[in-house]
Amino acid sequence: MSTISRKDFLKILGLAAGSAFLPTVRAQAAIGEADDHVAMLYDSTLCVGCNACTNACRQWNHTTPEPDAEGLHDAPQALSADTWTLIQLYKEGDEYAFVKRQCMHCVHPACVSGCPVQALQKTPQGPVTYDPSRCIGCRYCMYTCPFHVPRFEWDEVIPKIAKCTFCYDRILDGKGPACAERCPTGALIWGRRADLLAEAEKRLAEHPDRYVNHIYGKDDAGGTSVLYLSAVPFEKLGLEDLGTEPIPQLSEDTARVVLPGIIIGGPLALVAIHWISKKGAWEETWPL
Ligand code: SF4
Ligand code: SF4
Ligand code: SF4
Repeated sequence: MSTISRKDFLKILGLAAGSAFLPTVRAQAAIGEADDHVAMLYDSTLCVGCNACTNACRQWNHTTPEPDAEGLHDAPQALSADTWTLIQLYKEGDEYAFVKRQCMHCVHPACVSGCPVQALQKTPQGPVTYDPSRCIGCRYCMYTCPFHVPRFEWDEVIPKIAKCTFCYDRILDGKGPACAERCPTGALIWGRRADLLAEAEKRLAEHPDRYVNHIYGKDDAGGTSVLYLSAVPFEKLGLEDLGTEPIPQLSEDTARVVLPGIIIGGPLALVAIHWISKKGAWEETWPL
C-alpha cells in the first residue's frame, strides 16, 4: 500500500493554501489578449474523416491506441486519458458531418479557475496546459469544464488528468499543433486567433449557402481558441449553446467554497487516515 510522506502532505497543503486566492487573478489575465493567441479553425465541411489528425496526435504525444472489438483498428468512442482528440460522425438520413473533439483552449478557461493548485494554466500564447507535478487529483477541472474535456487516468496507481495541450511544446518550438499540420484537406488550420476569425468570416460571406451562419467559439462560452464552421447546426455536432458569458465565474465560486474544505478538511482527513492506519498496525501487533 502506498503512503503519503510528510513531504507530500506538506506539498499538498502548501499548494492548496497558497492558491486559495489566485483563481480570479488567473481568469482575468487572458482578457484582451485573445486576438494574438494561437488558435485552430476546424471547418467541418472540408473534413473527410481520414483521422490523419488523430493519428498525428497519438504519434506526437505517445498515447496508447484504443482498438475496436476485433482489435484491428484504433477506434476510440470518446475522449479519454489516452485519446486527446477524436473525429466523430453525425448522421441523420442523408445528412452527415464530421466533428473533431479536443480541448477548446478557452479564452477564459473554467478548468483553470476551478483548479485549486494551479495545475492547469492559461499560457501567454493561449494554450491551456497541465502540470502533473502540481495536481492533487481532486478532479475539479473535470467538473468545471463546460465541454467535458479533462479525463482521469482511472487505470493508474497515482492517476493524473489528461487532455490536449495544443502541442504547447511544439508551439514553443515555433511549430504548429501536430494534428493541424497533418490535415491533408485544409479542414484544420492553425494560426493567430484574429486571423482565423477573419478567414472564417470570409468563408461565411463567400459561401452563405454552405454554412450555418455562426463561428462556434468566436464568443461561445466567452470565446475559445478552437473555432468551428459547420453545414449543420452545432448542437447536432455536440457543440452546445453555452451563451456568450465566460464560464469561470461558476468555477471560481466553486473553488471559493471548496478550497476551505480542502485546506481545513483535507489535513483532518489525512490525520484521521494516518491515525486509523497506525491504530490498525497497533491492533495487529497487540490483538485484544
Ligand atoms: S475546454 Fe475545458 S479543459 Fe479545455 S480549456 Fe476549456 S475549460 Fe479547460
Ligand atoms: S493540438 Fe496537439 S495535443 Fe491537441 S489534439 Fe492536436 S495534436 Fe493532439
Ligand atoms: S486530418 Fe483533416 S480531413 Fe482528416 S479527419 Fe482530421 S480534420 Fe478531417
